[in-house]
Amino acid sequence: DVVLGLESSCDETAAALLRADGTILAEAVLSQLEDHTPYGGVVPEIAARAHLAHLPGLVRRVMGEAGVGPGDLAAVAATAGPGLIGGLIVGATLGKGIALAAGVPYLGINHLEGHALTPRLPGVFAGGLQFPYLLMLLSGGHCQCVKVEGVGRHVRLGTTLDDAVGEAFDKSAKLMGLPWPGGPHLERLAASGDPTRFVLPRPLLGRPGCDFSFSGLKTAVANIVAKGVDEQGRADLAAGFQAAVAATLADRAAHALAMVPDATALVVAGGVAANQGIRAALTAVAGRAGLPLVAPPIRLCTDNAVMIAWAGIERLRAGLTEALDHAPRPRWPLSDLSVTPV
Ligand code: ATP
Ligand code: MG
Ligand code: FE
Repeated sequence: DVVLGLESSCDETAAALLRADGTILAEAVLSQLEDHTPYGGVVPEIAARAHLAHLPGLVRRVMGEAGVGPGDLAAVAATAGPGLIGGLIVGATLGKGIALAAGVPYLGINHLEGHALTPRLPGVFAGGLQFPYLLMLLSGGHCQCVKVEGVGRHVRLGTTLDDAVGEAFDKSAKLMGLPWPGGPHLERLAASGDPTRFVLPRPLLGRPGCDFSFSGLKTAVANIVAKGVDEQGRADLAAGFQAAVAATLADRAAHALAMVPDATALVVAGGVAANQGIRAALTAVAGRAGLPLVAPPIRLCTDNAVMIAWAGIERLRAGLTEALDHAPRPRWPLSDLSVTPV
């Protein structure tokens, strides 16, 4: 019994095969980065066409690598939202087609729940991660604090009032003249900078709750760049920016942990979780609360299909599957999922 996972909600085309116990049999991710780079961001129409061109081939490839045929499948899980509707339709329709042909259930997975449940994948956290835990989802499109209580049972405790944290990295990096997507470039530049030279605002620091705001930080970066900065100045600015973001996230995480006194761990996911400065800051916050910081390996933090197959396995176990008329949803908050009874 093997579950096929498909991901096509943004600019990664991905397929994966997992055994029901969570063993990864095969996985493949195709980034569309080069298709979108000339435009400085993801172009929805280009993304949809690229998913259509590549997803069927990726499915054949993982099935070939794993030596798995349609008769071995127990279910097919595809991202059904939130995301760009063209890509979602490609993945969900292919997933339904394969499920129908193989005579197995179809699972329409919420992409955010994929990120939320991945740290429970066997091997990510010694002994297995137990509910409830606090998830900080830090990516290019999302910036949320979520209490993960169970399959389909998620409470959003806070979110960004303006930009997502990855978006803030990308916009600030662009102002510093770095290529898109700027997050990793900014981190590299920050390594040779002095974080104390430019002290940037720490938005919402100390405020109750765990909402985020990053647009003021971006404006501060823009104002400094406008006055002119030399090479060392850019590195100092990058370091100052990263320090401000890390301090803000740490403060928000501490507030969120106080709202979830029964949390078993602080979990970080999303592409920004790759940032070592941010990880260090969050490790310290978790440590002060006597909790571990759990972060899936980077390849499972960014968009991938292993997380979709795994969320599918968790939902299948809970008896939650979708009918073939289940429609993809470009907007689909975590609070709106079918859930396991308590
Ligand atoms: P979604 O929210 O739909 O998952 P996404 O595709 O933008 O959107 P990810 O692929 O998880 O999200 O993450 C990409 C984001 O992570 C980009 O904004 C990128 O700049 C940022 N990022 C990646 N590596 C780093 C890093 N080392 N430091 C800071 N930001 C980073
Ligand atoms: Mg992406
Ligand atoms: Fe994602």
